[in-house]
Amino acid sequence: MSINQATSTVNEHESELSERQRQRNNKLTKKIIRETATAITDYNMIEDGDKVMVCLSGGKDSYTLLEVLRTLQKRAPIRFELLAVNLDQKQPGFPAHVLPTYLNSIGVPFHIENQDTYSIVKRVIPEGKTTCSLCSRLRRGILYRVAEEFGCNKIALGHHRDDILATFFLNLFYAAKLKSMPPKLVSDNGKHTVIRPLAYVAESDIIKFAELQNFPIIPCNLCGSQENLKRQEINRMIRQWEKESPKKVWNTYKALANIVPSHLMDRELFDFVNLRPDFQDNPEGDIAFDSEPFPDLEETPTKQQHIVQLIRKSNA
Ligand code: SF4
Repeated sequence: MSINQATSTVNEHESELSERQRQRNNKLTKKIIRETATAITDYNMIEDGDKVMVCLSGGKDSYTLLEVLRTLQKRAPIRFELLAVNLDQKQPGFPAHVLPTYLNSIGVPFHIENQDTYSIVKRVIPEGKTTCSLCSRLRRGILYRVAEEFGCNKIALGHHRDDILATFFLNLFYAAKLKSMPPKLVSDNGKHTVIRPLAYVAESDIIKFAELQNFPIIPCNLCGSQENLKRQEINRMIRQWEKESPKKVWNTYKALANIVPSHLMDRELFDFVNLRPDFQDNPEGDIAFDSEPFPDLEETPTKQQHIVQLIRKSNA
């Protein structure tokens, strides 16, 4: 084989590889757009005439959110406006030029709100104590005000599927509540609808998408505060479960939209006090004497033993 022939074989191989990579990238982009569009539709997050304020921190999630909403804005049968908003909290080293440069380059209307919450937090919270709770409270108030000033009736946040799951476990383990982050809610001042269009998107897909898009990511540790340690622990647990048995994580997530109040214990959600036989056949009724069918649990002794062990461990 001549040098020319060898070079052309290598080139063909490379172009085949890049074609395969391109197809994979297209597939990932389509998947994220489809999941976002489905979540928006399922929860009626965006309606005709809405002005959506997209909160942009400079992290992978918010860049992805903005990019996907821009795509959907071009394709959707309804008309809605987008306004990207970043709150510059004056953390030391925050590269203030990065977001304006990026937003100008893609032609998205934006506003940078300059508020030195960093100094307030540092002044009020004693050294060594976690600053996130006051910081988030201040940020929330400022963002609500900005939304009002710019006439935005919706506020879009970049939380994704894994954030929703982690919040569910945090509430379950540390607050004794079956509660998570809803895809849509009314703000605590009663004035805005807060939406989470990435509610169906997995974080692992967002990581790949952000790399693909080459977003100018701003590191999230500029304030020097650590991510909540309990959240880190929960995220590790979820990743471990994902490795061992991905269905376990997926089913927990699906269960958040598949609740049976009559088979839990919340007397506010189900009127146990006045529950009486109604003498009607009910195929969905209780099967107190039969064992429950678990479609995704193969009836193998190993899996059952594993669950029994888990329960025993957590009781120990
Ligand atoms: S990590 Fe820093 S910027 Fe983020 S909420 Fe906590 S204190 Fe605020």
